[in-house]
Amino acid sequence: MQKTSPEIVSTKQEEKIDSVKDEFISIVSHELRTPMSTIKGYLNMLLAGDAGSVSPQIRDVLTEMLLAIEREIRLVNGMLDISRLEAGRMPFTLKDDIDVVEQARLLIQSLIHSASEKKLSLILETPPDKLPKVQADNDKLIQVLINLVGNALKFTIKGSIKVSFYKKDEFVVTCVTDTGPGIPIDKQSHIFEKFSQASTKKTRISGGSGLGLYISKIIIEKLGGKIWLAESKIGAGAKFCFSLPQVNSPKAKEIANQVKSEEGP
Ligand code: ADP
Repeated sequence: MQKTSPEIVSTKQEEKIDSVKDEFISIVSHELRTPMSTIKGYLNMLLAGDAGSVSPQIRDVLTEMLLAIEREIRLVNGMLDISRLEAGRMPFTLKDDIDVVEQARLLIQSLIHSASEKKLSLILETPPDKLPKVQADNDKLIQVLINLVGNALKFTIKGSIKVSFYKKDEFVVTCVTDTGPGIPIDKQSHIFEKFSQASTKKTRISGGSGLGLYISKIIIEKLGGKIWLAESKIGAGAKFCFSLPQVNSPKAKEIANQVKSEEGP
């Protein structure tokens, strides 16, 4: 049998493969997203009674279908984000006047209703002293906050979710603490990996794609910070934290130069 020699792939070829892969995922995702959005729209119409009254049994089925399609849409969006982030094609717009506490406050306001429906308290713990502004891409910061607070809301059955802040060296750290099921020790080192789900029975029931923490990690590292699981007590909750560089700090300057050089001339 003929032995194949190991292939030497040049940087140019690698770039070509990356761009073809990126394009493929992008096309497939868009092709999936359009019909899924149509299905979601029609399900919402049916549930709103636009096509006539709906019996309770059918309402239950339609609601299940809606939840399933929303989950698929999130998965496809997550895959699109990952393909762009991994290929370095996700544009980052850095701003140097971002008040993390204010961004968290706005997010909490928008989620208060979902929290109270689950009888959970959603608390913003404002720091005693005003924290410095950070350098970040605001939309991406919000995406990370939504992921952490969203997970806390999703997995917590009883108790509270608290968002708190502190300053450490040249960084501002934001933490999200919940009173949910916690994460088993053997799963803790994997939760930031792609498609990772620390599937205890409770977290499996809550659904999800296993992409949120992976995406959050790429975003935070790209912005010059770190994200980590700060505490986890089985049956008593989890605490996730992430850091972002303070405006004008050496790290912030290094990241700004990096992003500028990636943009090209
Ligand atoms: P998803 O939530 O979509 O499954 P993530 O990447 O955000 O994906 O989270 C990965 C896994 O980490 C989750 O499936 C869950 O098992 C675990 N996890 C994340 N946040 C929490 C939390 N606050 N409490 C308990 N488990 C969590």
